[in-house]
Amino acid sequence: MASDPALELDGVTRRYGETTAVDDLSLSVAEGEFFTLVGPSGCGKTTTLRLIAGFEAPTSGSIRFGGRDVAGVPPEDRDAGVVFQNYALFPHMTVAENVAYGLNFADPPSGVSDDERVAELLDLVDLPGTQDRDPASLSGGQQQRVAMARALAPGPEVLLLDEPMSALDAKLREQLRVQVRNIQQELDITTVYVTHDQEEALAVSDRVAVMRDGTAEQVATPRDLYHRPTSRFVAEFIGDNNLFEGQVRAVNEKLATVEADEESLTVDLGSWNEESISVGDRIAFCVRPEAMVVGGDSNRLGATVESAEFLGETTRVTLDWAGRQLLVRTREPLDGDVAVGFDPADAHVVERLS
Ligand code: ATP
Repeated sequence: MASDPALELDGVTRRYGETTAVDDLSLSVAEGEFFTLVGPSGCGKTTTLRLIAGFEAPTSGSIRFGGRDVAGVPPEDRDAGVVFQNYALFPHMTVAENVAYGLNFADPPSGVSDDERVAELLDLVDLPGTQDRDPASLSGGQQQRVAMARALAPGPEVLLLDEPMSALDAKLREQLRVQVRNIQQELDITTVYVTHDQEEALAVSDRVAVMRDGTAEQVATPRDLYHRPTSRFVAEFIGDNNLFEGQVRAVNEKLATVEADEESLTVDLGSWNEESISVGDRIAFCVRPEAMVVGGDSNRLGATVESAEFLGETTRVTLDWAGRQLLVRTREPLDGDVAVGFDPADAHVVERLS
């Protein structure tokens, strides 16, 4: 028999007066999975994490840890370690005392002293020998690693991380996310991670839920989210995208001819997994900037360079095409009038509008 998921949300709703922060949300997180909630400000990510941690109670719906309903179970009895955005270390305690504080919630020690356990945890978060340091003398990233060690001290089943990197600068965030992922994999601990940063979500997660208005718009692996968004919202939220809208003029097997802004474009419908698309339908499809081909022959569009940002590895060029903006990523500098195109197979249908 398959074991229960490590964590399940079943039709969870949380209202605050007129506001529905979480709206009939159902999720299932597997044992050892790194699961991320991502979405714009106010979409309900933090509330969802607080519901899982037990700091809030659902208005309706249920939450299960390993098949056990945790309704009414207080946070300290939920077997979850939590790390918040602000380090929340105790400033009057040393690093070792902060980590050892987490051990107060652990089962009685089994032959390992608190000092040994603290040392193990500090090794795990790559801060060996920092026991006697004052937390204020550590960098923001180091403080967050101490906070992780403290959260992991009781040996929780689930690790909950609420924007733990948002107070750090970009370089530190990149380093810390790799460390967080390594620690998670080393312990094989089920983790729910909240971030508003879609790049971070793609970089660290096994699966990601893109949230919108209190619910999950799409739950998928980073690769599928990027390459197979199931809605326009996800297509635009995850990475850069070019969105086209047009009317289907002909369908031949999987290839559709779509009239968009007076151009006739050929689109492969292969990625569309809902009901069939017929002549006369209006559809929206997207093409990633890196799939736009400068000087390409298929779906050739005449455009003018509006601006270019040199990003090192590539240049992100904004083009004007018939009054609309198109994004292209290229290695070659572009200037003036250009022709860009895309392979029909690189067009991904995200919506049927009518
Ligand atoms: P952010 O990225 O800005 O932190 P979020 O996705 O984490 O946003 P939440 O903090 O979960 O979003 O908030 C979801 C909605 O619920 C928002 O409209 C918010 O104003 C509202 N909300 C959250 N907590 C409360 C509360 N305690 N009382 C009233 N409204 C709340």
